[in-house]
Amino acid sequence: MEKEVTSRNFIEQAIDKDLAEGVYDHVCTRFPPEPNGYLHIGHAKSILLNYGLARQYQGQFNLRFDDTNPTKEKTEFVESIKEDIQWLGADWKEHLYFASDYFEQMYEAAVKLIETGKAFVCDLTAEQIREYRGTLKEPGKESPYRNRSVEENLELFKRMKEGAYADGSKVLRARIDMASPNINMRDPVIYRVAHMTHHNTGDKWCIYPMYDFAHPIEDAIEGITHSICTLEFEDHRPLYDWVVREVGFKMPPRQIEFAKLYLTNVVTGKRYIKKLVEEGIVDGWDDPRLVSIAALRRRGFTPESIKLFVELCGVSKAQSSVDYAMLEYCIREDLKLKAPRMMAVLKPVKLIIDNYPQGQTEELEVPNNLENPELGTRKVTFGRELYIEQDDFMEEPPRKYFRLFPGNEVRLMNAYFVTCTRFEKDEFGDITEIHCTYDPASKGGNSPDGRKVKGTIHWVEASTALKTQCRLYENIIDEDKGVYNEDGSLNLNPDSLTILKECMLESNFAGAKAYDKFQFVRNGFFCVDSNDSKPEDMVFNRIVSLKSSFKLPSQR
Ligand code: ATP
Ligand code: MG
Repeated sequence: MEKEVTSRNFIEQAIDKDLAEGVYDHVCTRFPPEPNGYLHIGHAKSILLNYGLARQYQGQFNLRFDDTNPTKEKTEFVESIKEDIQWLGADWKEHLYFASDYFEQMYEAAVKLIETGKAFVCDLTAEQIREYRGTLKEPGKESPYRNRSVEENLELFKRMKEGAYADGSKVLRARIDMASPNINMRDPVIYRVAHMTHHNTGDKWCIYPMYDFAHPIEDAIEGITHSICTLEFEDHRPLYDWVVREVGFKMPPRQIEFAKLYLTNVVTGKRYIKKLVEEGIVDGWDDPRLVSIAALRRRGFTPESIKLFVELCGVSKAQSSVDYAMLEYCIREDLKLKAPRMMAVLKPVKLIIDNYPQGQTEELEVPNNLENPELGTRKVTFGRELYIEQDDFMEEPPRKYFRLFPGNEVRLMNAYFVTCTRFEKDEFGDITEIHCTYDPASKGGNSPDGRKVKGTIHWVEASTALKTQCRLYENIIDEDKGVYNEDGSLNLNPDSLTILKECMLESNFAGAKAYDKFQFVRNGFFCVDSNDSKPEDMVFNRIVSLKSSFKLPSQR
């Protein structure tokens, strides 16, 4: 067990206490997704938290699909969820479970509650049950069916199971306290009739347990010690405890709640993402502008960056929203030493060196990452015709513009000093080519005689350049105006996707594969798109630009 006692979060403190007092002699946690959508960054927090605790206490981590609700669940999601959790590095080993495998035990638990007078079959309609429930200020009213005999309840519940009743005509309710100040304790429904096909159990069942009854039983069956969930379940905890106690489990799990992770101006709700997908605003659940795990992976985020992010967020009981810039900070931190820095021109214009020999090229040896010599060097082709960024030339420069303009000398990164001599324009006034001369004595980008140049620009040799598509992203929501418009619609940023189709990359990019990550010098970190990229027709996603205003609290 870890020695560090200083900055334990409240969950670790609770676990420490339980172990010290002998409430449990081990730790077992779980991640219990409902297979009704893709996982997002909020789920990543829950996964890494549960997995991290299990590891820290040398315990067990279970992945359990909470598939008790046959309406919304799809097997497709089971696979994607597994893939995402694996990618995050949370290893459930042999501990993969499905809540639907416990239906028999749940049924037996319900029978047991009936036998001890703790549950009854109720014929009130859903609407009546709601009316009888009361409000926060007023107590509820007891159901007229509350005092049915044990025998009658057992018989009715059996007939419910056998399919004798129509959906909605009968429910099984826990018999607790209609006057409880906690509405969840006012004889909650624990089973409903639903003639539906379940993805795992088929048509075997036509009664299904409700979440508040099923979840504690699932945890208890698996021997979960600490059932970690989000704050909205705090008011359900008394019911959770009631269920495990009344059903008679020997080692009741402890439910501990923490605050959900929210990102500022980012939508994570399944309902909204579904809408964005259906309306074709994004190109699927893994559109790189979204924050589903699949989208983050496709965009180029790494598991390490997400771990760092979750660690920086910490766990707390207070609801708060974290800035997206922190996620960007984490991927920059992770990639800055790992990713090779290569040259790519996003918006190219030709630069012609008039005094460089026609037809000649040369190979220049350049470092792959100035901050990390371990990444070695590579050879980059240089020649008479190059591409540079359109932004790196100005016909009439403002003050303090140190890049290329007529008469000015700059350094071509790792190559030579060049001086702009003239340029050409087309009939629209767009610059078509820029001419310059180079100083052969400045090879490697070093000044031959101590003369200084203020600007250094990157370039790509034209005859060997690889033409590719690059996609630049901005937040899908307009940050300044907030997530929703007054009419409740999403406030979309029209510039959330920019497609650049004529980008020119140095030839060393040949052979780059899906998910490969690079730093494009001066332009940001990029990742090969996993859906649309082909070897002869590469597509890159910008993960993040290089500059950030984000600072860790300790750096402010
Ligand atoms: P959503 O409605 O955002 O799609 P959900 O809560 O319906 O999510 P579940 O599959 O029920 O999705 O969630 C699985 C686990 O993930 C639960 O334990 C839940 O508390 C946790 N979880 C969901 N959203 C977040 C979040 N934003 N931050 C942290 N944990 C979360
Ligand atoms: Mg849910």
